[in-house]
Amino acid sequence: MQRRQLILAGGTALAGALPSARALDFAAPAPPAPMRVSADRIVDIAVGIRPFRAQGPRIEAQRLFGKRVVHHYGHGGSGWSLSWGSAQRALSLVRTLARPGERIAVIGAGAIGLTTARTAQLAGFNVRLYSRDRPPQVHSSAATGLWTPDSRIATDAHANEAWAADWEAMARASFKVHQSF
Ligand SMILES: Cc1cc2nc3c(=O)[nH]c(=O)nc-3n(C[C@H](O)[C@H](O)[C@H](O)COP(=O)(O)OP(=O)(O)OC[C@H]3O[C@@H](n4cnc5c(N)ncnc54)[C@H](O)[C@@H]3O)c2cc1C
Repeated sequence: MQRRQLILAGGTALAGALPSARALDFAAPAPPAPMRVSADRIVDIAVGIRPFRAQGPRIEAQRLFGKRVVHHYGHGGSGWSLSWGSAQRALSLVRTLARPGERIAVIGAGAIGLTTARTAQLAGFNVRLYSRDRPPQVHSSAATGLWTPDSRIATDAHANEAWAADWEAMARASFKVHQSF
């Protein structure tokens, strides 16, 4: 059965002149508004790239050139979704290298850098953020903003059982934080 088109006719000035429900039911749908599409009407082009790694995000502690470093990047199409849970994971590594109250630097002001910085701050670290670009000039600002924790996050070859368990824990932890907003 064909779905009825609902047309709301506004602006009727005369009392009692509203079209009957029957007339509305059978009114013809309005033709679509003509579109004017041409290159000179483009007002902006926004490009975002997904930081994809075949093996999934890198969350790893390392001593590098005398510095204590926690790598935290490569969340593919799932960065917003996994951010808070991933930041908690990164923070657990930070705790193996530094104590609350110590000064730490977070590099990057996208979804991952910001949530990492905030998570560390809430845990008592003295955080300073360094970034080449700031929102909205970051790829994170070009994202759709959906709950997509399994979007382009790793290749099948790397997503073994242990990997999947880690990913699930991260996604659940993140979901819990998102729900609290
Ligand atoms: C079109 C599109 C749609 C998406 N939709 C979703 C979605 O719906 N849901 C979802 O969960 N995810 C989505 N994603 C994925 C998500 O946006 C990314 O995973 C996430 O933005 C990555 O965040 P990031 O902080 O690692 O990177 P970025 O946002 O790129 O931030 C990197 C930061 O590092 C800084 N930086 C880089 N190089 C240097 C340097 N040399 N020195 C100092 N600072 C530096 C940059 O200036 C920036 O501040 C989408 C991605 C795209 C492209």
